[in-house]
Amino acid sequence: MRTIKHWIGGRETAGESTRSGPVYNPATGEEQARVLLAERADVDAAVRAAKQAFQTWQDVSVVKRARIMFAFRELVHRHLDDLARIVADEHGKVVSDARGEVIRGLEVVEFACGIPHLLKGEYSDQVSTDVDSYGFRQPLGVCAGITPFNFPVMVPMWMHPIAIATGNTFVLKPSERDPSASNFVAELYQQAGLPDGVFNVVHGDKAAVDAVLDHPDIAAVSFVGSTPIAKYVYERASARGKRVQALGGAKNHAVVLPDADLDYAADQIVSAAYGSAGQRCMAISAVVAVGETGPVLVEKIAERARRLRVGPGRDERSQMGPVVTGEARDRIAGYIERGLAEGAKLVLDGRDVTVPGHERGFFLGPSLFDQVTPEMSVYRDEIFGPVLVVLRADTLDEAIALVNANQYGNGTAIFTSSGEAARRFQRDVHVGMIGVNVPIPVPMAFYSFGGWKDSLFGDRHIHGPEGVSFYTRAKVVTSRWPHVERPVEAHLHFPTA
Ligand code: NAD
Repeated sequence: MRTIKHWIGGRETAGESTRSGPVYNPATGEEQARVLLAERADVDAAVRAAKQAFQTWQDVSVVKRARIMFAFRELVHRHLDDLARIVADEHGKVVSDARGEVIRGLEVVEFACGIPHLLKGEYSDQVSTDVDSYGFRQPLGVCAGITPFNFPVMVPMWMHPIAIATGNTFVLKPSERDPSASNFVAELYQQAGLPDGVFNVVHGDKAAVDAVLDHPDIAAVSFVGSTPIAKYVYERASARGKRVQALGGAKNHAVVLPDADLDYAADQIVSAAYGSAGQRCMAISAVVAVGETGPVLVEKIAERARRLRVGPGRDERSQMGPVVTGEARDRIAGYIERGLAEGAKLVLDGRDVTVPGHERGFFLGPSLFDQVTPEMSVYRDEIFGPVLVVLRADTLDEAIALVNANQYGNGTAIFTSSGEAARRFQRDVHVGMIGVNVPIPVPMAFYSFGGWKDSLFGDRHIHGPEGVSFYTRAKVVTSRWPHVERPVEAHLHFPTA
């Protein structure tokens, strides 16, 4: 059986690891590899390599750093299909969806290629006699990323291209469920000319995460994952003086107004709810049908969801792959049971799906609940699977109040033909990313991504301008070159212009 090792200082290594975990092929249910689980000593070794590399990398010219990013961009682009297949085999999502994930990650690399422009400082001439003021930003040192299973290429790429382009070195602790893509990315960085030690990968579980959070030589931690762990990471790492951005879970509402095109809304909602088997932090998991829309909308969603082809990610005919593990499948099935017990109406039951030839795969079909109320666990909790719940509201204001009462504030969408309603919605919801007739409003790489409330701990969103700000710190210089013929007299008063 294949063993997936760490990548430290430019090569694969087992380090001090003696424990390992299973990596499944979700389409067959078989264990296809073992991934090493790092001990504290392995994290120490990765940080040592990164710290040493920082000594020289921080002084490499910004133009050269950008050129390495351009070379890396070309390699990722050339290997797009290889990366997509690695993702499909370990995560389970269909290859076309995996390609989409790699492309969205690539867009952050492309953004990072513009780092010379992004790092241009500010300059104010003659703020006082012979005095100028200017500001510029410098890297932090060793930065770490801890990432979830659901986007094994894209989410790490929200972090490392910007961290590295701004002059930091990086230690990535990817999800132990689909670890292979990170080692492939490390090889591509090496081929692109990135010096060894600038990008390192340490595989592992809580032990590795805790070692990262406690390490005195790590300056900043970017985390993406579930809310309880995001909160834990934020509190533990910031208590040790690190800069932290920790993105958490979500319950994303689609609010559908009576004036919306219901066929269009149903198409968009089905793709956003069941794409990647609902395992996206921006998936639509709750629909709020406003006014009279409920019965017709539920019927239109059910009709489309019923036709979805569930199958292995490698099969081009599949539209929805399996979920990531058997444990995830059982947890999601448990929610369907609970929804029924709580009195919701199960319109579509995904538990009885079978995929011929893949009977042991972790498959679930699309499930749809109607008549859901806010106190039910199928609404309150993030299920993170192909389960969509429909709630009702009498008015737009009621729908907005529902969205705002929710614990999470990652993404939301409104479907309407009224510009006035859309504008009111975008101004009044307490949510970080909003779609107007767009179901998954993931910001482009040159904007920043982040939610509100329990969907983000820390104050800076990820990638885009806030990413550059997160991975750098500012200096402001006040400089005087006195005119030789205009001697400056010293005073004891506080200097003013
Ligand atoms: P997770 O929280 O279980 O794991 C995320 C990372 O934390 C992994 O690297 C994992 O090894 C580590 N981890 C897990 N348990 C830990 C513990 N007890 N102590 C320390 N570290 C621990 O999340 P997941 O199941 O891999 O991913 C799904 C979650 O991620 C969902 O909640 C989803 O909404 C969220 N997510 C959020 C965003 C966002 O942008 N807000 C994006 C993608 C995924």
